Amino acid sequence: MAYDRIDVPDGTRIELADPETGELDVPEDPIVPVIHGDGIGTDVAPAAKRVLSAAAEATGRSIEWLRLYAGGRARERYDEHLPAETVEAIREYRVALKGPLTTPVGAGYRSLNVALRQTLDLYANVRPTYYLEGVPSPMTAPEEMDMVTFRENTEDVYAGIEWEADTDEVERVREFVEEEMGFDDVMHEGPIGIGVKPITETGSKRLVREAIDYAVENDREKVTLVHKGNIMKFTEGQFGEWGMEVADEEYPDDEVFAAPDSLWEEQDEVDVPEGAVMVEERLADAMLQWMQLRTDEFDVLAMPNLNGDYLSDAAGAQVGGLGVAPGGNFGHGRMLAEPVHGSAPKRAGQDMANPTAMVLSGRFMFEYVGWEDAGDLVRDALEAQIASKRVTYDIERQIEGGERLGTSEFAAEVTERVASTA
Ligand code: NAD
Repeated sequence: MAYDRIDVPDGTRIELADPETGELDVPEDPIVPVIHGDGIGTDVAPAAKRVLSAAAEATGRSIEWLRLYAGGRARERYDEHLPAETVEAIREYRVALKGPLTTPVGAGYRSLNVALRQTLDLYANVRPTYYLEGVPSPMTAPEEMDMVTFRENTEDVYAGIEWEADTDEVERVREFVEEEMGFDDVMHEGPIGIGVKPITETGSKRLVREAIDYAVENDREKVTLVHKGNIMKFTEGQFGEWGMEVADEEYPDDEVFAAPDSLWEEQDEVDVPEGAVMVEERLADAMLQWMQLRTDEFDVLAMPNLNGDYLSDAAGAQVGGLGVAPGGNFGHGRMLAEPVHGSAPKRAGQDMANPTAMVLSGRFMFEYVGWEDAGDLVRDALEAQIASKRVTYDIERQIEGGERLGTSEFAAEVTERVASTA
């Protein structure tokens, strides 16, 4: 029995309508698995469910939440951090919402988040980064940010292929690299740690394909491939080449246009066919400054894992940071929506944390299943709430004349706005 430890309610499932395109068949009353998660997850997940359920109802639908366990709660109930049933239920129900999970401290534990993404092969980590009116930001024009970052989720230096200093393994790898591969004057003498950076054609192309498809489907103008190919030619540079191949070979020119030599030429000189999505390359270091100096020039970004990690956090900071940053992991017609932030143990269980990031992750999930109207209701209600200055501590302390609300109070007021504006 697949779910002998999970109480599966009656309801309907989201199914894959077309395995080719990943199109989903979404009932009006789907079962949606939810993991509250650790730390502030216990505060923000129930709050987010409340707002999201209200938005579903306001648009003539309903959500049957199926509670799943991972992290500390799973350890208490099942004596393991990531029960197989949890993974299987996400696989089966296709679209799920997840709060943050604490990575258990101690030897031998890998991140539960990484384990979940790898087991389900959710290869694209996607973060829509846009500004909510009224959120404090360090930028002079934060509203110019409207970007979606696609971060490769399974390889690069995050693949976990590395060896610790002073082990036999690391010395064997050093010997191989120095003696067999001829790099005998690169590494300093003495203790060393070594990691491997795999970038595959399969991993790069499927990520870039997701980003381009998203841009086409959502009327975006540009996809920027962000890498350090000038230095790491055979990994980052290759990511760029494979990405441009996807743009060039897999789509008609009047739909997707691969800008030639975009790393070195000014883009306003490029003749893009009307209505086509332009695909260009940028070096990651330069991109970090362009993102701040020319925010409105960027649209959809596609990147290897490490670049994506840094860049998406930096982009999030421009529009207010962790409390308001949503995300989701995608692959094979599945989505696991989750906020960017972690479990913030210092604030756990105090009814203090900002549920906005988790609510907006739910909005992203709504968009994925075609419930844009419900998603817009959620966004409008959050903006109206923030404009009222009745907000959680993280925002209240940065604005003048604000009133501090707890997580549940904030969510209750947003829920009321959702219901009353429908
Ligand atoms: P974190 O995001 O949990 O917290 C950093 C700080 O950001 C907090 O101290 C808090 O001041 C602020 N913050 C974060 N979310 C907030 C919110 N919703 N409202 C208000 N303030 C908020 O990062 P961390 O401290 O580096 O990580 C804590 C734990 O979370 C670690 O175990 C880490 O592995 C885990 N983590 C999990 C995920 C995930 O589940 N996807 C992501 C990142 C970190």
